[in-house]
Amino acid sequence: MTLAVGARGKKKICRALTWMPDFGEDYMKRLFLSGMGFFLALTVFAQGNSQNTDVDIDALLRSMSIDEKVGQMVQVDISLFLTTNSTPPKIDTNKLRMAFDTYHVGSILNPVYVMPPADWQGIVKTIQGIALAESPHKIPVLYGIDSIHGANFMQGSTLFPHHPAMGATRNPDLVRESARISAMETRAAGVRWTFAPVLDVGRQPLWPRFSETLGEDPYLVSALGVAEIQGLQGTNLDSPTSVAACMKHFFGYSFPFNGHDRTLALIPDYYLREYFLPPFRAAVQAGVKTVMINSAEVNGVPVHGSKYMLTDILRDELGFKGMAVSDWQDVIRLHTWHHVAATPEDAVEKSVNAGLDMSMVPNDYSFFDLLKQAVQEGKVSEARLDESVRRILELKKELGLFRNPYPEPEALKNFGRPEYKQVALEAAEEAMTLLKNQNDILPLAKNEKVLVTGPAADTLTALNGCWSYSWQGTDAQWFPKDEPTVWGAIRNEIGATNVLYHHGVDFDGNAVDVNAAVADAKKVDVVVLCLGENSYAETPGNINDLALPRGQQEFAEQLYATGTPVILVLIEGRGRIVRQIVPGARGILMAYWPGSQGAVAIAKTLFGDVNPSGKLPYTYNRYVNNFITYDRDYTDGTTELPDETPQFEFGTGLSYTRFAYKNLKLSSPTLKGAGHLTVTVDVTNTGKREGKEAVELYTHELYASIAPPLRRLRAFQKIDLRPGETKTVTFELAASDLAFVNAESKLVTEPGGFEVEVGNLKQGFRYEQ
Ligand code: BGC
Repeated sequence: MTLAVGARGKKKICRALTWMPDFGEDYMKRLFLSGMGFFLALTVFAQGNSQNTDVDIDALLRSMSIDEKVGQMVQVDISLFLTTNSTPPKIDTNKLRMAFDTYHVGSILNPVYVMPPADWQGIVKTIQGIALAESPHKIPVLYGIDSIHGANFMQGSTLFPHHPAMGATRNPDLVRESARISAMETRAAGVRWTFAPVLDVGRQPLWPRFSETLGEDPYLVSALGVAEIQGLQGTNLDSPTSVAACMKHFFGYSFPFNGHDRTLALIPDYYLREYFLPPFRAAVQAGVKTVMINSAEVNGVPVHGSKYMLTDILRDELGFKGMAVSDWQDVIRLHTWHHVAATPEDAVEKSVNAGLDMSMVPNDYSFFDLLKQAVQEGKVSEARLDESVRRILELKKELGLFRNPYPEPEALKNFGRPEYKQVALEAAEEAMTLLKNQNDILPLAKNEKVLVTGPAADTLTALNGCWSYSWQGTDAQWFPKDEPTVWGAIRNEIGATNVLYHHGVDFDGNAVDVNAAVADAKKVDVVVLCLGENSYAETPGNINDLALPRGQQEFAEQLYATGTPVILVLIEGRGRIVRQIVPGARGILMAYWPGSQGAVAIAKTLFGDVNPSGKLPYTYNRYVNNFITYDRDYTDGTTELPDETPQFEFGTGLSYTRFAYKNLKLSSPTLKGAGHLTVTVDVTNTGKREGKEAVELYTHELYASIAPPLRRLRAFQKIDLRPGETKTVTFELAASDLAFVNAESKLVTEPGGFEVEVGNLKQGFRYEQ
């Protein structure tokens, strides 16, 4: 290879020169002092460049040593390379060099701290520069971060509503667009891989990661999850607007028996396949590039050591060809935590032989040493190693990392554009879910005098939830100063003079200024009471009681006692039980964790600038000891207890207008074999203002070989109707839409009688093979 590689190659070399100062002082000294360091650096880069322009993965793999291969499977946290004696921390280039020359590290995750994208680019440049210089085959690093609801760990990035709120929008276009922006902002920082989307189905409301789920229904999660993947990956991973997506956490994570994070799930095979597998299948079909594994145990088997789940199901059954990364520390935990591996080496061997490709180690190099030893002892074959390394290298190639491993300066213009806020606002607006509106108290008039109160009324952290600039999302210093809280947004909406404010109680329910709030409640026309949960992520969000803390509920009761109408705004990651305070509230607006524009969306909805159209993506439970889902079967749906129904059904969501459903028609009374049934329904806006409506189609099988659910969501479409306008909505149903997993774990459609339900209408039909 010579330097005469054409204009493209030359341009690269010039750019290499301008990047050099970013390698760090120590590193530069070493290069220059080594005499021919400068020329060496050029040659090294040029070689890397020419070889990598059209990198041949087979040839590369053949030429790599065992150490290099093992290293590719290692992912470590950036904190391993940071100085410990400076604030903010800096990259310690000696530590970084060791990561590459000794351990050949393939991937790095997490931020140095919350930085603007240009600083991120500087860090990634430094890392890539050293990786290329130290790696015998010039293999670039794959950098990954958790952009869960917008680019994370970056100053000024755009945060969108959390997943349940996106589920409430029933709007795949908004999900796709939000994900596209998240991808652009993530890549602007020089990061080409994100650990999203979460495709766990939210059927255990205690689970502290419920707030990361798109809802309780596998069809809803699949449809919106696919849209998210499309937005993140785009059509070409090598574009400065795309990142590789990572479906997670495969699978069965979201159904822990005791509701706590990373604890045992007991899920029969049929139920696993019926409710938790479909979103992952849909994601594979949509071309998702990577997967992250469930940290917990399913039926006593830690998924990280399960060949059944990681190979038989993921690879052989779903046909997934991409790369599988572990979750945080989960390989070694097969030994230290789950106790299914007697030694650390067994843990590594077990997980790699089960099908894992990369270990998020992440705080040391133990995985490297242990895997190398396992290969040398023949416990892990080199062929198995090659399989994983090939997947990792292929991904790097597809992301364009061999062609240009460095952050793309031109991508910076894709960061923080003002129009992104508009998308975040639209998503938050469409998420707003009106659960109660007694005597049409909402929308409120803008000249009313309002008391805004409650622990969620004046905080950005509860609006944005987890993975917001920081992992827990509780570090308020990083939030943009111009984003209003609910109190601020209401002042902007109706003018400060009409708005009083008191904190009332804190999130735990401890009184802050309850007496003053109650006194002022008597002086206003209406109280807007913001209750709920502050931000949390993963284990710190564990709770033992789903009920909203008693002190928050008592505060509501004290306000009700004033006689002033109270509108309850729920800002929370999961549906905390509020049974006792529902009757006294005149209106209830579910806001979820609505993201950076959430406060504006809440204010606009309360005062009528926005007509709410969100629909609950999960069943809001009434009791802490009676968790049910909308797709319960007859035995769950017909007890003799009073109030056996949930507090609010899946799909609940009122509007300021009314919609009437008429003329539900099926193209035939019988669906045969591979045929289709066309279902049409007329939806009319019978009210006085424009509104959006998510039209949902459910089916119900009358008799089946295992107890059939009362209904299952099979399709939805969101439409917009002007007053008086009617639209005919058309759905196509095939036998596959009626399929379920039977007692033998087979996906089947059984012949027999069915009902299709849209709105308040029902029609019967038969399916014949
Ligand atoms: C979480 C993952 C996340 C990873 C990296 C883990 O604790 O379970 O969802 O992607 O950390 O931040």
